[in-house]
Amino acid sequence: MSFASASAGSGRTDKLADLLVILKRSFGFDSFRPNQAEIVEAFLDGSDVFAALPTGGGKSLCYQLPALLRDGLTVVVSPLIALMKDQVDAARENGLAAAYLNSSLSAEEARTVKAQLHQGGVKLLYVSPERLALSEFRATLRFCNVAAFAIDEAHCISEWGHEFRPDYRALSSLRAEFPEVPIAAFTATATAEVQTDVIRQLGLVKPVVIRASFNRLEITYRVRRKSTVNRQIVAFVSERVGEPGIVYRATRNATEETAEALIRDGIAAAAYHAGLPDAVRAEVQERFVRDELQVVVATIAFGMGIDKSNVRWILHGDLPRSVEGYYQETGRAGRDGEPAEALLLWSPQDIAKVRYHIGRMTVEEERSAAERRLREIIAYADSGVCRRQVLLAHFNEEHPGGCGGCDVCCGELDTEDLTIPAQKLLSAAVRTGEVFGAHHLADVLVGECTDRVRERGHDQLPTFGVGAERDRSWWLSLARDLEAASYLSRRVGANGRRGGFQLTARGRELVRGRLSYVSAQRGAPVPSPRAAPGVPGERSEGPPALLRDDQEELFRCLRSLRKRIAGERGVPPYVVFSDKSLRVMALNRPTDRQALLRCHGVGERKLEAYGAAFLEAIRAFLATGECGP
Ligand code: ADP
Ligand code: MG
Repeated sequence: MSFASASAGSGRTDKLADLLVILKRSFGFDSFRPNQAEIVEAFLDGSDVFAALPTGGGKSLCYQLPALLRDGLTVVVSPLIALMKDQVDAARENGLAAAYLNSSLSAEEARTVKAQLHQGGVKLLYVSPERLALSEFRATLRFCNVAAFAIDEAHCISEWGHEFRPDYRALSSLRAEFPEVPIAAFTATATAEVQTDVIRQLGLVKPVVIRASFNRLEITYRVRRKSTVNRQIVAFVSERVGEPGIVYRATRNATEETAEALIRDGIAAAAYHAGLPDAVRAEVQERFVRDELQVVVATIAFGMGIDKSNVRWILHGDLPRSVEGYYQETGRAGRDGEPAEALLLWSPQDIAKVRYHIGRMTVEEERSAAERRLREIIAYADSGVCRRQVLLAHFNEEHPGGCGGCDVCCGELDTEDLTIPAQKLLSAAVRTGEVFGAHHLADVLVGECTDRVRERGHDQLPTFGVGAERDRSWWLSLARDLEAASYLSRRVGANGRRGGFQLTARGRELVRGRLSYVSAQRGAPVPSPRAAPGVPGERSEGPPALLRDDQEELFRCLRSLRKRIAGERGVPPYVVFSDKSLRVMALNRPTDRQALLRCHGVGERKLEAYGAAFLEAIRAFLATGECGP
């Protein structure tokens, strides 16, 4: 190795060591999450950056830490006005001089912020895209020694993304107006189109592109058939006492029915959908973030950018419209790196409903794109293949399967090899000319001599009666499943009505014996959270700790202390300490400042602010075995 490269190498190590010290001191974390260090270093070096990290990957830190170290102002653009205050509170808790400007501030408050800006008293400024579009505001910025721009939720600038925001278009002139100022774009949207588009729209110059793995190790994925959906949801939530979660439902009515069912069962829940007045929605969100509501039952209108890090589970009560959407929604669980669960409940009727909507789409391209998305999500839900493997394949990420963190890999589902019955059903379809629906095929298989069977001579076929060992309804549901899994597809008549089944290419492979059909859906109960497998912790923070009963009790005490303090300070509980921090405290039981400082998420600022209260609570618990007052 030449001298030059050796010194460059150790230079990087030194820099990294410095960053780690600041990471612990200001944020209380012992290590970077995957890709954070690279992003921070590139951004600090003055490069433009494009970073795709999954939800919960820790994007905020990638611009907050550089902001702390830079001279001058870092401007963060975020579309989520309702959440800016919380983000600023959280940054301030870590000792960053942060502020925000958006339409929610009074004129007086905005003036105060601007005065602070002029005096150079702000290091990190959150603004809405509308604000950044105002020429008056841009003029202010020119006097503020802007050192960097961070564009959060950067996919909003792209029409390819699923959340395009016209306001984001104003950002495309930043590059020309501030040619010397580095821009970093952050998103959790993984597709290549979005990446190219964001880079182009923002005019990033030779950006350092960093794409993290989208594997969320802390999330356990499960899929079950739904029967009485509200009862299933209530049972699931009842087993997760005090654990915050989100239920997604397909329609406004469904959100309200499910919320009512939960409330009847004594669970603190509320519905959230676009039909509710703004004030109600804001209140639901606020109460959820502050741990006053355990459950929000929502349409997909809820959730983007919710920074609540202790969401423990996401339950979908209906088949989602796409894998991308499903992945983003489930990503809202477990941002603190603690174990979390994603459960999807679905039934073949869901497919019929989605197909009905698709059928009403008038633009051919939209319809076929929706049809493709539906097939993909069915392939996720209705297969005996490792869920993580299927999800990640969607983001072009290869996973070998056997993840140990999904229902398939944990052997929770009774899988049944149904290749032979499936072949029987498919050949019945072929022999009858691929024009009949499930009912006629079922009649042929069980050997039912209906008028139609006789008229067509189908009682003479070799497949007639080959399925007599099962009943008619069993064959009907197998036909639906084979359609769901894309072995069969419906013919569509000239009038747009859906006709009989024909085989797909996959179906033909199955008949020829080149594919097998393993069904993995029937009935298994969802295990209680304590029994959850948890994926071997590859996150740098180490595997999550399972607590004993007394530790669990202390954890509960610390949570209620946290809630009280958060209430007094008017910030969300997770801003005080994350669940993970409290769990580590419950496990390690620190009784002095040094020991507390060693706990995850405890930096110098938080030690000063909350150390005494938490140490006292822990000491009291150790002495009495109970929560203090
Ligand atoms: P994203 O915006 O990528 O979805 P956030 O920035 O909101 O994620 O971070 C998610 C959670 O992870 C936050 O609670 C944050 O404090 C925590 N976090 C970020 N970086 C680290 C780290 N290096 N170690 C531990 N926790 C971290
Ligand atoms: Mg974020």
